[in-house]
Amino acid sequence: MEARNKARQQMSRTAAKTGPALSGEHANAHSIAALRRQAESCERCDLYKNATQLVFGEGPVDARIVLVGEQPGDREDLAGHPFVGPAGRVLDECLHEAGVDRSSCYLTNAVKHFKFEQRGKRRLHSRPNAGEIQRCAWWLGAELEQLRPDLVVALGATAVVTLLGRSAGVTKNRGDLIDTPAGYPVLVTIHPSYLLRIQDGDDAASERARFVKDLAKVAAYEADRVGRTQRRL
Ligand code: SF4
Repeated sequence: MEARNKARQQMSRTAAKTGPALSGEHANAHSIAALRRQAESCERCDLYKNATQLVFGEGPVDARIVLVGEQPGDREDLAGHPFVGPAGRVLDECLHEAGVDRSSCYLTNAVKHFKFEQRGKRRLHSRPNAGEIQRCAWWLGAELEQLRPDLVVALGATAVVTLLGRSAGVTKNRGDLIDTPAGYPVLVTIHPSYLLRIQDGDDAASERARFVKDLAKVAAYEADRVGRTQRRL
């Protein structure tokens, strides 16, 4: 509760910006399930060729919070579900500490197929390029149009670019709630995989605490929204 109150005091709102997921045309379907069925045969970029399968967003269709990552990792590609690998476990723990119920959130990625470099038997993560992000915004934008959430969390640079465009960035906007023409703000923070790459124990602990602090803004935002709704009734 204390973390949530602090987060509420620290929430700052900045001006509207948009990336390809929040502007232009997107896929059209009557439900998330129908979108997913369409996406299963997507060939809008080349990433479907080497990936095991599509990894579409998952979560309640009435979710008020949407979390957007970069792309599925090795485990997600094999399992067919988002955020089920090591970074997903870190995200789960940090959401819990921040007072956010993961099961009530919709989790998805900017890019729906795993991009990797094969090194022997290992598949090493490779960051999606601008064209792939642009192409796959066709699906993310459609997911968001279906869900119409109260708040979207951009986890890492790729999510920031697809939601807010190239003028925004994780370093520049970390912890900011950025208003968008879509009617909901985007909260900017890191991707949880960043925490797994930090070697120094003290640095890892302080960055993890900072990530929890960012996520506490989600809980604070939702508490404010529920309070405003109740006052209107
Ligand atoms: S990464 Fe996205 S745009 Fe590219 S083939 Fe997969 S679903 Fe289609």
